[in-house]
Amino acid sequence: MTESAPTQSTPTQSAPPESVPTQSAPTQSTLAERDRRRGRSVRGIELPSHKTASTQHALAPAPLPTTIILPLEAGLSARDLRPAVETGQRVLRGQPLVQGGGPLATWTHASTSGVVRLLQRRRIAHPRRREALCAVIEVDGRDEPYAEAAKRPDPTQWDTPDKVGVALSRAGLEGLGGAVFPTGLKLAAAGRHRMRLVIVNGVECEPYISCDDMLMRTSPRDVLAGALALVELTGAPRGVVAVEEDKPEALKALQRALPSLGDTQQRLTIETVPTMYPAGGERQLIQALTGDEVPSLAKPTDIGYLCQNVGTVAALYRYFASGEPVTSRITTVTGSAIATPRNLDVRLGTRIADLVAACGGYTGKVARLVMGGSMMGVALEDDDIPVGRAANCIVAASAEELREDAEVACIRCGNCSNVCPAYLLPQELNAAAKHDEFDLLETFGLFDCIECGCCDVVCPSHIPLAETFRVAKRRLVQAMAPTARVRWLDAREQLRRQRVESWDREHNGQAGAEPPPLRTRLEAVVEIVERASRLPAVTVTSKGEGGNA
Ligand code: SF4
Ligand code: SF4
Repeated sequence: MTESAPTQSTPTQSAPPESVPTQSAPTQSTLAERDRRRGRSVRGIELPSHKTASTQHALAPAPLPTTIILPLEAGLSARDLRPAVETGQRVLRGQPLVQGGGPLATWTHASTSGVVRLLQRRRIAHPRRREALCAVIEVDGRDEPYAEAAKRPDPTQWDTPDKVGVALSRAGLEGLGGAVFPTGLKLAAAGRHRMRLVIVNGVECEPYISCDDMLMRTSPRDVLAGALALVELTGAPRGVVAVEEDKPEALKALQRALPSLGDTQQRLTIETVPTMYPAGGERQLIQALTGDEVPSLAKPTDIGYLCQNVGTVAALYRYFASGEPVTSRITTVTGSAIATPRNLDVRLGTRIADLVAACGGYTGKVARLVMGGSMMGVALEDDDIPVGRAANCIVAASAEELREDAEVACIRCGNCSNVCPAYLLPQELNAAAKHDEFDLLETFGLFDCIECGCCDVVCPSHIPLAETFRVAKRRLVQAMAPTARVRWLDAREQLRRQRVESWDREHNGQAGAEPPPLRTRLEAVVEIVERASRLPAVTVTSKGEGGNA
């Protein structure tokens, strides 16, 4: 298995080639401004979606497996977590398997009832970890719930933003879009700024992945109620659920559900964005919806934007409505080597092999197995790995699906820079990376690269640019002595602050208004959840269950 994703079919470039950029090429902001004048909101490429196969079948629960493997290390201060169970102990669905940990540590819960047979380090599929201490649970098939996890929480008891963050981390809430960033931490960051807009990301622009599409089609109430709750939690004046234009059924389901949410002040809207990869990237989405560029090194929350995936806000609503921590997620299982590509609601910890079996098994030899989509997914060694919160999609690609062209020298055509959504010069970055020219890499904005792979797709020389940049980031940091790394991080932090201050000055007077006190906002969350929980839970619009609702 290689590190790269499965397949990148021939794209349509979003813009005609321009002159070959050089070091004296226009700055990122100038290029963004030029794009705006041309009516081009986000740079990127149009790709074949490969989503139809997995949306032909109704969303269904995956069968309970006989064994569940749950990683006990999650979040950003996972080392402080301790197992709360021991070998031989019976556990119930929703029961915490860990204890302790800082506010950034995400708790893991048993995703069904059974007996803990092993506590051991195992390989996992995670964007930042290769292995983790796991609880291996022999499933008893009774799926008995843990009483404590069936109690609706009272958010009005959380009298500080930190307590809100800790409660969400204890409920296992992390970004379900694939990045698994702790939700509580994002909210804590948002709490330090006045929020102007909450963006709920239902764009799902990467080929093959359709789990968010199916979630929006089938559970629009949960998505919208979670989105409204998030608007209240952040104190933002409004929120928007963004959906890509190629998801008409999801859009229709959301539009039909919105009026019943009782959002009398119309603080939540639904907007579409053009079908373009990577329109769902946080910075790209903010730019597409608002025209605002997040300054280099700054985070969206620094300038008043908070983005969350639709799956995360639906999980947030379910936690508020029932006390249910995150014990399952929707995963797309697809690729030409899968007999029946589809979306399944999967208990966390289910092995990928069991998931594939629930989709009819493999049709032949799997040339590459990937978690995520074809552009930014992570190649897996085999299928004996459990599904975690990050597993939005499993692609089993056959040899015919893969394109493996030999790399040749750069011909300086400029295709890569014309499509780069971060307005970088990939050809220059590539030349600097080849010779470990770390200063140049920084000058050319290596850390602004979002590793989207657009440059790879349009490169006629088949240079694996995104992978080169991924490795270069690691090498650059590793090459620094510890003291130099501290100085480097300090300098970046200083630069970030300067850029945010400068952005604030430029946008003077447009910052979000002073939010109501936390208690008032938490009471509003309770009302939203009360109202939403009286509405029907599921709107069935997915194919195989009778067409559009
Ligand atoms: S890296 Fe590839 S796309 Fe970019 S200029 Fe060179 S040949 Fe063209
Ligand atoms: S991988 Fe990096 S350099 Fe290449 S197009 Fe994406 S953001 Fe630009």
